[in-house]
Amino acid sequence: MAELRPKILVVDDIPSNVHVLSRILKDEYDIYFATDGEKALDLVQVRMPDLVLLDIMMPGMDGFEVCRRIKGDPATHDIPVIFISAKSEVEDETRGLEVGAIDFITKPISPPIVKARVRNHLLLKRQTDLLRSLSFLDGLTGIANRRRFDDAMSREWRRCARAHLPLSLIILDVDHFKAYNDQYGHQVGDECLRVVAEVLSERTRRPSDLVARYGGEEFVCLLPETDGPGATRVAEDLRAGVAERRIPHAQSPVAPFVTISLGVATVIPSAAGSPDRLAEIADQLLYRAKRAGRNRVQDATVPAL
Ligand code: GH3
Ligand code: MG
Ligand code: MG
Repeated sequence: MAELRPKILVVDDIPSNVHVLSRILKDEYDIYFATDGEKALDLVQVRMPDLVLLDIMMPGMDGFEVCRRIKGDPATHDIPVIFISAKSEVEDETRGLEVGAIDFITKPISPPIVKARVRNHLLLKRQTDLLRSLSFLDGLTGIANRRRFDDAMSREWRRCARAHLPLSLIILDVDHFKAYNDQYGHQVGDECLRVVAEVLSERTRRPSDLVARYGGEEFVCLLPETDGPGATRVAEDLRAGVAERRIPHAQSPVAPFVTISLGVATVIPSAAGSPDRLAEIADQLLYRAKRAGRNRVQDATVPAL
């Protein structure tokens, strides 16, 4: 896939200033522009630029306020803002940095300096974005990690509570995995976990479904807008999917291949309730599935949490 060109939003109330900057940058970047603060904020939301070049003195909402709002919104907080202003007094620069700007360029601008600083800040942003996305992935399996799951859970909990929609959670665990490691070694054990993660990812298809490694040989699937019967169907499909891989497990008393046990809990969340309780209940159901013989699903719909 061709790499997307970085997007830069240029904000200045004087159109000729916008033109100067876009002439300098348009060969390397996609340029959007706004000539007032309100329009700039709209464009930030719609285009999600990688960088904003922002004038300070504008009629109506000034650059400081625009920057403050970009930084105040979690959705746009990480977009770097560079002030470009004719006012070069020290207090302006201080104020600019205080409201969250990453850099300050004074007019009249020097094209090579603008180019170099823009390039540096975009490089930094790309590295930060990459680090952030890696910090939400599980190193062994490449699927989401616990941290990403916790984030998604609290977001989906609130969203489903607002919309009075059911939220389902599957917690699953590989059966007799200690014996598997003892028999085949830790590296083969790791490979087994990768295969399980792959099956889970393949068999959860809605964009809002999230599969994550919960820890060790335990995984979770978060299924927003999914009722009890729907979630049980998914869980049964995951169970069958892992069994169908026929990963040899000579020491398992359950089957000659690797199996998983699953607990499924469904609730219509309430704003005051806690996602932790849902996880506890799913975990208890998983434990029941284990005691009932493993390689099976135990489900429950909880009246309210
Ligand atoms: P049960 O059916 O009751 O779940 O039995 P179990 O043996 O799977 O459960 P137990 O909790 O006793 O053992 C879990 C094992 O999973 C022990 C641990 O060494 C192994 N394990 C946890 N994380 C990893 C990992 O990242 N890689 C490998 N290879 N093994 C892991
Ligand atoms: Mg286990
Ligand atoms: Mg376990």
